[in-house]
Amino acid sequence: MPIDVDGILSELHEKYENQTEFLQATDSFLFKIRDFLKEHEEFRDEGIIRRMVEPDRIIDFRVSWVDSDNKERLNRGYRVQFNKALGVYKGGLRFHPSVNLSVFKFLAFEQTLKNSLTGFNLGGAKGGADFNPRDYNDSDIMRFCQAFASNFYFYTNYNTDVPAGDIGVGTKEIGYLAGYTDKLKNSFSGSYTGKVMELAGSHLRKEATGYGCLYFVAQMLKDLGRDPKGLTMNISGSGNVALYACEKAIEMGMKVRTLSDSGGVVVFEDGITDKQLKWIKELKFEKRGRVSECTDKFDVEYHEGKKSWDIPCDIALPCATENELLKEDAETLISNDCLIVAEGANMPCTSEAVDLFLDNGVFYAPGKASNAGGVSVSALEMTQNQLRYSWEKSKVDSLLKKTMNEIYDRCKKYGGSSWDVPNLAKGANIGGFVRVYVAMRDQGVF
Ligand code: NDP
Repeated sequence: MPIDVDGILSELHEKYENQTEFLQATDSFLFKIRDFLKEHEEFRDEGIIRRMVEPDRIIDFRVSWVDSDNKERLNRGYRVQFNKALGVYKGGLRFHPSVNLSVFKFLAFEQTLKNSLTGFNLGGAKGGADFNPRDYNDSDIMRFCQAFASNFYFYTNYNTDVPAGDIGVGTKEIGYLAGYTDKLKNSFSGSYTGKVMELAGSHLRKEATGYGCLYFVAQMLKDLGRDPKGLTMNISGSGNVALYACEKAIEMGMKVRTLSDSGGVVVFEDGITDKQLKWIKELKFEKRGRVSECTDKFDVEYHEGKKSWDIPCDIALPCATENELLKEDAETLISNDCLIVAEGANMPCTSEAVDLFLDNGVFYAPGKASNAGGVSVSALEMTQNQLRYSWEKSKVDSLLKKTMNEIYDRCKKYGGSSWDVPNLAKGANIGGFVRVYVAMRDQGVF
């Protein structure tokens, strides 16, 4: 019996009509695997596919805390434990005022497929809170993290759920969360990744998503027969993913022309230098500054309210947030002969933008494949924690590279296409789907 994909889609739309981000992710997944299901009888258990688009569990909790001015504050915490078929729940925490259940469900669903694609045994989850670290000082951030951990610690453990960082959650916040969780459990539980080295972290975890994205782009360029040296790249965002992607791109000889934040874009006509990047890292990671401040220091242009996509480039790397690259941005990139779009962020391109890239021969890498470097090094951090041992940087780097190459090959394997470069969007969805399906099938119905 063929699978009733349209039936599953309309049921989801009926049940979750207001969860637009979640529906965007599940629509895209179901459309991309539809032909594969028609051709492969062995993947036609409709019950498994219906369960695969429903989260295992959603935890939703109050985070009340007292700030350093003795004022009581109230936030909402969430954790969507989406799918555990392949292993422990794994995925980041996001602290941002815009979060809601739809965003966490989409992120957790994408994470499930992403973690499957890595080849590691990891389930998928995502969570966080409607807390804006930008509104608070360090002492308040610590207080909030401790309140979050005290309401959430019993759900995290090496064998159940191992969160990491995401937007608004960097090494500092992970230190507070992991530290307080361990205090409450009175043990070293290894229940977070993204820790600094002194707290049993791994080399290269903070760099991993950005570096991994560039290792993925290197494979795409190899297949296009292009040398990275001298190619121009526009990056959006100026956080963890964006700045380490920028670092690796410069190392590979590319010219990175833009970085941005929600205020606007800063343009480095001749490409960002190592020295400039060092200053920007300090500005963003230590002083929590804005990219507009680059104009105080360097001879660069800042365009308020603009994005990175109006400026011609060979490679576009959206590394900020979901749905930041719209149909009209895709049209501009295409008319400027952009070769590659590789997602550093999760679902930064709208469905219309992705369709335009695929229809116009732009080599497109979906985030669930190209940004999987972060979770891959998290998996390595978990292994090192269990071994109570720390691997050298060079070993972690070569394992990261190997994993990204394997993800690329998996996407190519399933991404057959009528045009001359593989459809990685299709390949990533099918590649992620296959492992989760087999694990769910072999575990039985529950
Ligand atoms: P950060 O919080 O470190 O940085 C996010 C950056 O994006 C900030 O510079 C922020 O600017 C900017 N930004 C947010 N909204 C917009 C917008 N509308 N236009 C332009 N810039 C914007 O987060 P990360 O770098 O960790 O995460 C970025 C993306 O990568 C997210 O989609 C995340 O889910 C994904 N990701 C992260 C991983 C990780 O390991 N950290 C792993 C895999 C994916 P502002 O300060 O103005 O808000």
